[in-house]
Amino acid sequence: MSLVDELADAEARVEALKRAIRTGPCAEHGHDWQSDGGCNAGCDRAEDGDCGCSVPVNVCTKCGDCDYGDNPAAEDVRLSCRIRRAA
Ligand SMILES: [Zn+2]
Ligand SMILES: [Zn+2]
Repeated sequence: MSLVDELADAEARVEALKRAIRTGPCAEHGHDWQSDGGCNAGCDRAEDGDCGCSVPVNVCTKCGDCDYGDNPAAEDVRLSCRIRRAA
């Protein structure tokens, strides 16, 4: 193995360790989600493109992870949008 390969290997390991430390407590105890505003729901299948829905976005106070609107409240928004458009 060349030194360059060894360095790349070591760097990848450092990144993996950093990630493990950062998300460790969350992996064990769950994220501590805090509302961080909203973003476009991006409901697909809207005939006129953008339906203008917005969904809440949460950010974890511990690791800084973001759910990008992947949460139950957002699902509700998308569902009611679909129902409204189907009506
Ligand atoms: Zn977290
Ligand atoms: Zn929508």
